[in-house]
Amino acid sequence: MIQKEINTFAMPGGPIYINLGMIEAAHNEGEVAGVMAHEMSHVMLRHGTAQATKAQKYEIGAVAGQILGAIVGGTAGSIIAQGSNFGISTYFMKFSREYETQADINGSHVMARAGYDPRHMAEMFRTSEAQGGSSGPEFLSDHPNPGNRYQYITKEAQMLGVNGDSAGNNGEFVRVQARLKGMSPALSAQQIAQQNQRRQPVGTTGRAVNVEPPSGSFRTYQPNNALRVSVPANWNPVESVGTSITYAPQGAYFQGDNGGSAFTHGVEIGVAQGTGNLQNDTNSLLRNFAQGNPQLQQSGRARNDSVGGRSGITVQLANVSEVTGQPEYISLSTTELRNGSMVYVIGVAPRNEAGTYDDTFRKVRQNIQISDR
Ligand SMILES: [Zn+2]
Repeated sequence: MIQKEINTFAMPGGPIYINLGMIEAAHNEGEVAGVMAHEMSHVMLRHGTAQATKAQKYEIGAVAGQILGAIVGGTAGSIIAQGSNFGISTYFMKFSREYETQADINGSHVMARAGYDPRHMAEMFRTSEAQGGSSGPEFLSDHPNPGNRYQYITKEAQMLGVNGDSAGNNGEFVRVQARLKGMSPALSAQQIAQQNQRRQPVGTTGRAVNVEPPSGSFRTYQPNNALRVSVPANWNPVESVGTSITYAPQGAYFQGDNGGSAFTHGVEIGVAQGTGNLQNDTNSLLRNFAQGNPQLQQSGRARNDSVGGRSGITVQLANVSEVTGQPEYISLSTTELRNGSMVYVIGVAPRNEAGTYDDTFRKVRQNIQISDR
């Protein structure tokens, strides 16, 4: 499809697409090589397929073994040593800025090997920002800036000892751009949608979500020997990453183009590193979450609460959904394990459905069964 918006995307398994708008906006061949290297890296690092695979049931069982290890104690240290996503929340990672950093760094190496200066990749992101105006094009929402993108790509280029391009024929690139200009003009995403008489394709925000309310009856899952979780019967396990597992109703779980994911309704249960001081550990978890979520706000005071029959803490938070762009309600509960680690329960619902879901979140956290003895 010849589309004028700036965008590229990678599909699990390998194919990479680049919009005409991207080629037209690029200042040089290196910038196009940069977005290709970035997209290729998502494929090489299996960001899409890893996420797709993790959603499989058997995989959830396998990964949940990590939760068991973390709860039972002795192996928690080795999980951290292996560098897994210990304590990294699916909800708060959203469309995964972590993956963006990995794709930028790996992409820098791909570019250097092909004879391009990795700085062009950083420049292409700036070019996209300049084209996108205040709202920013879809390309940027699919590949969110993890922060300091330009700085760390520049540093990586320096470490790789790259200074300027040894490959690349800018003369040929200019001819390609001129030839594309001579073709019939590209259509905007909206025009294409009108032609196809269907809704405008949307990126990672502005999606309409239609989810049936939580069932009054509950179903119990046992992701491992140490954990039993009861959730509304119309929810399913949708994803397990690192030491966390997410349950959500049909239609509430989304995957981004970069392999990251988000959910609009449901709960995530996970284990995070702790020090044995629940108050401090909850605060550092919140600080950690706030880093990648600039709109996250605490909306009530933290209060003592029962979590799985243990003393715990519940905090209410407000955020903006990356899926719908609408205000979101979050209830975060934590409790301490014997080995000092912390179990957290994150309930997520749209702000205007908070009343319905808060009761469900309370039941989930009260009925969770943890055996760490
Ligand atoms: Zn990306």
